[in-house]
Amino acid sequence: MVLDLEQLPLPLDVLPFRYERGLQLSGSDLWLDPHSRRPVAYVSHGHSDHCLPHGHALATPATAEFYRLRTKRSGVTEVPFGRAHRAADQEIELFPAGHVLGASQVLATSPDGRRLVYTGDFKLRQAPCLDAAEVRECDVLVMECTFGHSRYRFPNIDEIDAQLRAFVDSCFEQDVIPVVMGYILGKSQEALCLLTRAGYAVAAHESIVRVCEVYERQGVEFGPYESLSLASVEALRGKVVLAPPHLRRQVTAPLTRYRTVMLTGWAVDPSARYRYGVHEMIALSDHADFTELLEYVDRAKPRVVYTVHGDDAFSKYLRKQGVEAYHLEN
Ligand SMILES: [Zn+2]
Repeated sequence: MVLDLEQLPLPLDVLPFRYERGLQLSGSDLWLDPHSRRPVAYVSHGHSDHCLPHGHALATPATAEFYRLRTKRSGVTEVPFGRAHRAADQEIELFPAGHVLGASQVLATSPDGRRLVYTGDFKLRQAPCLDAAEVRECDVLVMECTFGHSRYRFPNIDEIDAQLRAFVDSCFEQDVIPVVMGYILGKSQEALCLLTRAGYAVAAHESIVRVCEVYERQGVEFGPYESLSLASVEALRGKVVLAPPHLRRQVTAPLTRYRTVMLTGWAVDPSARYRYGVHEMIALSDHADFTELLEYVDRAKPRVVYTVHGDDAFSKYLRKQGVEAYHLEN
């Protein structure tokens, strides 16, 4: 833990949480996004690193569905956005994080009225087919800062949309199959929204289709798309293939003429193209970029900020700006 206890702005006995591979709220047995199994845990969203099989989980209805799918456990209390929930002496409220379907942030208010916000993974840029993230004023802010260096500035969704169309159109002009790759939960659905809205025919890998079906059950509507079949490559002509990056070789093996694009915030680092083994990259991310992290702190007006994920660069930057900030290492 990169946290100098001598420097803490609040004495440890009044710090509103304990940190040990996740946050445990003081005065409660509730853990927030713990990285190991806990008896009772709030799960911020459905990405696999957050969905551990806990004794009992607390999550939004959509996240609960992903949690049950991933862990095969049914012990989940579903708390919709904006509804008050009590956990021991803490008043809990979940509100949208704009990260993936169902992703939430949590506001915990202690009996003395002190407000703690834990963001989980979030982004402020509006994503297609998701509720926009909200920001709540708080005393203590615990925020993720995956992209906490100033070089990470992501295009808005209109620019991403234009880049994606340009990629697909140039593939069709060259008579090659465009293969768009994004993680199965989140970016694939954002891409599917953009591609179907633009009128392209899309063939999505079955692992992505399964997640799309959860989106649809939760009320999200996509344009028409089909499940990817590699049995007839000829049948894929004129269609966009949507596939997860870990299946790149398997999906592209039967395609003789194709071009790949990876959707990731790491596209800002040019060398990432070689790491992913793709032809092109587009900086579509489901995380906040550097400017959004700053905007968040500005709007939340916390007395103290603790950062998780990424490294300590963002907390150092905040301290230079006169904001009390510390990094909690995972
Ligand atoms: Zn995530």
